[in-house]
Amino acid sequence: MIRPILKYGDDILHDPAREVEAVTPDIERPVNDMIETMYAAPGIGLAAPQVGVPLRIFVVDLSLGRDRNGLIVMINPQFVEREGVQLEEEGCLSVPGFNATVVRPSRAIVKGLDRNGDEHQHEATGLLARAFQHEMDHLDGTLFVDRLRGIKRDMIVKKIKKLSRAGKW
Ligand SMILES: [Zn+2]
Repeated sequence: MIRPILKYGDDILHDPAREVEAVTPDIERPVNDMIETMYAAPGIGLAAPQVGVPLRIFVVDLSLGRDRNGLIVMINPQFVEREGVQLEEEGCLSVPGFNATVVRPSRAIVKGLDRNGDEHQHEATGLLARAFQHEMDHLDGTLFVDRLRGIKRDMIVKKIKKLSRAGKW
């Protein structure tokens, strides 16, 4: 089921998500919904809080569903390593219409559980490392806008507030 994607300003997005206590069949539905919602958007990643589920789960697929092996499901993910710096334009399905240059690690290793409860580790560089960091941030209640400083951040927040007041957000 495609779920509505919450937008910047919704409390669930700004609060840290809870650990998944046990990977049971109950997790199948929200995970499947996240995958469907990500592909429909379309987006290369989605975190559970974005669809109103306050749990530490994210999905990423740089191939947008074209490559059968492209999908990564991470439950209770943790960073094993992070290094380097990359600066690229970034956006978010929860902040539609805005993007900004965000500083991210150039390489990251993330470990977590898959849908079957098996542990996996993924080593990523470039866009995938960026996606991992972006989705991990969501699980801590941080959006890319929160990573910006100064005028750029103020400008986006101001525009969002204006859109909210106009009922267009
Ligand atoms: Zn996002």
